[in-house]
Formats: sequence, C-alpha cells, structure tokens
Amino acid sequence: MKKLFLSGVAALLGLATQVHAQSLGEFRFTPNAAISGFNTQHLNNVTPEACATTCRDVDHGAWCVSFDYYRASGQCDLSNKRAADVGGLKTDYAGNPYDHYSLSPAVNAPDPIPGKRHVLVIGIDGLRGDAVRCTGCANPPSLNALIDGGAFHSDMLAGGPQVTLSGPGWASNFTGYWAADHGVTSNDISQVLKKPHVFDLIKKVYPDATTAVVADWANLTQGLMPTGADFVSRNDAKNSQQATDVVKEWLSWDNAPTAIFYYLHNVDIHTCCYDPLNAVYQQKILDEDAQIAQVLDALVHRPDYANEDWLIVVASDHGGLNDNHGGQSASERDALFILNNTYGKPAAVPYCHGDLTSYPLTQIDGVTPHVLDFLGIANPTAGRKLPVCGVSSQ
Ligand SMILES: [Zn+2]
Repeated sequence: MKKLFLSGVAALLGLATQVHAQSLGEFRFTPNAAISGFNTQHLNNVTPEACATTCRDVDHGAWCVSFDYYRASGQCDLSNKRAADVGGLKTDYAGNPYDHYSLSPAVNAPDPIPGKRHVLVIGIDGLRGDAVRCTGCANPPSLNALIDGGAFHSDMLAGGPQVTLSGPGWASNFTGYWAADHGVTSNDISQVLKKPHVFDLIKKVYPDATTAVVADWANLTQGLMPTGADFVSRNDAKNSQQATDVVKEWLSWDNAPTAIFYYLHNVDIHTCCYDPLNAVYQQKILDEDAQIAQVLDALVHRPDYANEDWLIVVASDHGGLNDNHGGQSASERDALFILNNTYGKPAAVPYCHGDLTSYPLTQIDGVTPHVLDFLGIANPTAGRKLPVCGVSSQ
C-alpha cells in the first residue's frame, strides 16, 4: 500500500453519492503509475470523476494538484505534489493497481493560434464511409449537418500499405504516414508512434497551444497519443457519454483547448456486421451521432463562438466487412472523412465544400494535412491535403 508511510489528513469521506461536478477534463491521465508517497488525503468509494471533483473543490483546490486512483477498490489519494516535484512517477507497482491523474497547469490557457483557430477531431472507430449518404443507410442528423455545411469524402482509403486495423489506422490519421514510417503495425498496446502526432506538430510551432485527448481504447491514451498532450482522459469501455461529458467540459472553458481528439468506439462492432444497410450498424451510428449532437451543441454555445474559428474533422480508422476488418477489401478500406468549419455559422466561408469523393484521398492525406493547413502550419508529413480545401480560399 503506497500510503502507509505518510499519514497526511486521511479523512475517509464517503463520496460515492456525491454529485459530480465536471473537473476530470482538467487532468492528464497516466495509466499504471502513481506518485510514491506524498498522499495528503485518502478517499474511499469514489470514481475518478469524484476524486477530480474533490481535488478541485473549494476545500482542496488550494493545494490539490494530483491524485492516484486505485482501480480495483475505488479509492484515491489526493496529493499536493505533481510527479515533477518528486522525481517522477513510479511505474513498477506489482500488478499495476494505480492510475495517476495530474492537474494540468494549462487549464483555461488562451489559444495562441492567430484567428482563434481550433480543431475538434472526432474519431469514429469502424465507420465505413459508404454508411451515410446512401439510399437505405442510417440518417445521422449531426453528421449530415456537418456534411451539408462542409466537405465530405465517402471513401478515404485506409489500408493498402498496412493492415486495416485500428492501431495502424489511427496512427496514419494522426501522423500523415503509413506504418513503415509511423511504426504502428498492429493493435499491440506497446507500440508507440515513431512519427510526431499532429497535435505535437501544433505545439512545435505554438508551444502554448493546448491539446486534449479522450478515448476508451487504451492504445489511444498510451502509445498513440500526443506526447505533449495537456489533457488526457480515458473513459470506461464503450461509455461514450463519459467521453462526451469530458469534451463538453473542455468546451465550457472560456479558453478551450486548441486541439481536441474525441473518440467514439461503438460503431466498431465485431459481434455483428459492418454493413451500411444493417439495422444494428445503423443504430450504432445513430447512437454515436446523438453523442456528437451534444458536443456540437456545447460548441455553438461557447460565449465567443462567433469570433472563434473551429475546424471539425470527422474520420474513421477503417471500414469493415461482415464481422471483421484487417484485410484489404474495398469495404474494409473505406473510411469516412468530413471537414466543417461553418457549423452554426451559415454565413461563414467553408474551408472546403461538397462531396469530394471523386478526389483520390488516402488515410495519410486526411486528418493531419488538413489540421495543419487550417492552423497555418507547414506540413512536414507524407500526406497531402485535398487541392480544393484551403485557408487561402476563405
Ligand atoms: Zn478500429
């Protein structure tokens, strides 16, 4: 037990029934790690959200800057130290029972990008590009609204030089390279990006830019995440509402993060049917679309939204065929791609517009080149943006 040697103020507060104000989004999550010692207060019967809320309340906010969470037993230790204050995190506890949450110094930091530009990247795992905008397909209102006001590609090509698995697919989305360069060849969680994540490329030019990631698939908050991420959350498996709540929290700040990655897992249905006309697949799409609706609503209600310039990017990591993916069939390679910077601003000039499916577009040409271009950052990657998209056209 890591708390044996420092007693602190071990008030055992029963907080299981506490109403959880939002605050988890202010933290950076590190799995399988903890600060050894330096436990100022111990809490029992709590969720990570409750620990975060307590850490940030009026009684604790003056000193609490991190906590370690005991996954199996629902306890946490609040601390007045960050890892950097105490020589780093301990990562070799037997059985890895802890996760570490560090309050980010960058909460509410102003966006340094000229023009108040931001990007919101919505990752929908396993969504075939041909599963929307076709006869008999799901009719997801939020995705349709983004398509109507922006640009849409129904066949961004995943795979080819790599398998159509999630790890390589997200890595290509995030880096603008294929697996031979980015190094992620499978879903092995130990694999890490060998090329910079696009969010780290933003920070290279704008060190004060803030970046945020929320995902339930563990690879996305470990080897596939931006190393410089300021805010990292891992929601419970398949619990999209938790991820949505964290994004809504980020969007509630006066100064939202410069770049957000928001991951929705549930369209990726290995138990069933990657099929645009399948009712189960369609329902999964509609359910995640309802999550996106909440986020878009939070976005347009930002106090300064009229003066901010948000590019919303929707991308998937691969398609699928029957109950699987990984191979090179057209259905498995077919990923969705949407760009929209006019949501809730009908008079704004679109970054690009219309159905662009006739243009060749591979996965390395999708997320990364367009995010960099929109933010006015030179593109050092192997990906190339669509010629009809561009800030210069605005
Ligand atoms: Zn996937």
